[in-house]
Amino acid sequence: MSKRQEQYDVIIIGAGFTGVTAARELSHKGFRTLILEARDRLGGRTWHDRRLGIDLEMGGTWVHWFQPYVWAEIGRYGLDVVPSPVPNKLYWIADGKRHEGKPDEFFLKIDGPNQRLLEPARRCFPLPYIPLSSEEIHDIDQSTLKEKLAELQLSDEEHDMMDSMWSLNFNSPLDEAGFSQALHWAALSDYNWKLMMDICSSYKLTKGTKTLIECIFNDAKTDILFSSPVKRVNKIDSGYKAITYAGDEYTAKAVINTLPVNILNSITFSPPLSAEKTMACTEKQSSKGVKFWAKIKGVTEPFAAFAPSRYPIHYAQFEYVQGADGIIVGFGADAEKLDPNNRTEVESALRHLLPDIKVLESCGHNWVNDPFSGETWTMKKKGQLTSYLSALQEPEEGIFIGGSSYANGWAGFIDGAIESAYAVSRLVCSYLNNEFATGSAVKE
Ligand SMILES: Cc1cc2nc3c(=O)[nH]c(=O)nc-3n(C[C@H](O)[C@H](O)[C@H](O)COP(=O)(O)OP(=O)(O)OC[C@H]3O[C@@H](n4cnc5c(N)ncnc54)[C@H](O)[C@@H]3O)c2cc1C
Repeated sequence: MSKRQEQYDVIIIGAGFTGVTAARELSHKGFRTLILEARDRLGGRTWHDRRLGIDLEMGGTWVHWFQPYVWAEIGRYGLDVVPSPVPNKLYWIADGKRHEGKPDEFFLKIDGPNQRLLEPARRCFPLPYIPLSSEEIHDIDQSTLKEKLAELQLSDEEHDMMDSMWSLNFNSPLDEAGFSQALHWAALSDYNWKLMMDICSSYKLTKGTKTLIECIFNDAKTDILFSSPVKRVNKIDSGYKAITYAGDEYTAKAVINTLPVNILNSITFSPPLSAEKTMACTEKQSSKGVKFWAKIKGVTEPFAAFAPSRYPIHYAQFEYVQGADGIIVGFGADAEKLDPNNRTEVESALRHLLPDIKVLESCGHNWVNDPFSGETWTMKKKGQLTSYLSALQEPEEGIFIGGSSYANGWAGFIDGAIESAYAVSRLVCSYLNNEFATGSAVKE
């Protein structure tokens, strides 16, 4: 077992968008930073990888100008976005039947139900980036989306269509989905649910999320160690010691932990993290679905397809033409019900929606079983916004938590990761300036 001793101002655990952006922010202020990353690559839950013969996003993908933090970074580094193909046709399953039509037909049918569902959004989130600013949010946060849909007394057809749309957004069935989360997304989208759908799945970085994280990383003056999962963080006289599974030890005055909330307890802190932080991790969030890619024979026209969450695939959309074939991306609400790397499983799940489809190859990554993520994109269960968000954001002396899971705005998105990196970097900077005023690299 090797042991090394280094002294840093800040150790950042994780090289996803949060960790890398925090390293840039703090190193630009003159602080000496070290990123310890468990994987052998940058990006965390974004992963632009060569699959099915082209470069595909296995995790986070779509960005939008209504997401101010990521959009600023895209502009800062002069990157471009491209739209995903606009579907000409939509297929959906509702009330036990397969339907097909123009996309407008589907969206018109759920416009009324969505207007009624999201009516409290403006009152609950008058300032979407200050998510706990209203009184009403505390009551509303006690309901699941499933309960709220039941109150709307929808027809079976409308209910299935709403279930399809919202289980896609939650990447989970709706029985645990926190209603406040749906209202928050709508509020962030100017209280307009159709705009919300556009924001979430329309524009992607032309050369992939990898280009953006590499720009941020190359701009940071930071040390980084890959394949270095952190096991423990102990308080010591000079600050903190991070100990990896390999037994290497690194010390710093402060630590930023960017682990997703579902795996927050996978590192042992001494002294331990607060009871609320531990509890938030133990409860887990609702995000337990799966994303897949499939190469499909002979289809080159853009389409999209929706099914309720009881089906193993609840959404698919056409993305690329590859010769005479097409490549589609899709999602299921429960990673246990679909192995994205099993071609026949993906094909038979898709055939509920598209009976003649022939899948040539498929791929995906199980983020829920991955010990370094434990979830897909953060989506809160009922009660978690009001019970845990403030506690999760609260530093504990020199230990800071940052990550998309802990953002005020677009939590669960790349935007949220960058927002949280800015916020946590500000806190760390002020902590180091106050606590270590005579230190070597302390800057305003
Ligand atoms: C399938 C999927 C689809 C998504 N789609 C979108 C989308 O279209 N648009 C969008 O904006 N967002 C999307 N997201 C969400 C987005 O990818 C994330 O919100 C964002 O990338 C999170 O960044 P982060 O830095 O907060 O966390 P992460 O990226 O999870 O970074 C945490 C890092 O910590 C590392 N780590 C974990 N444990 C340890 C340890 N013990 N020691 C050291 N390192 C450790 C991990 O390897 C990881 O690199 C999607 C996510 C998934 C999974």
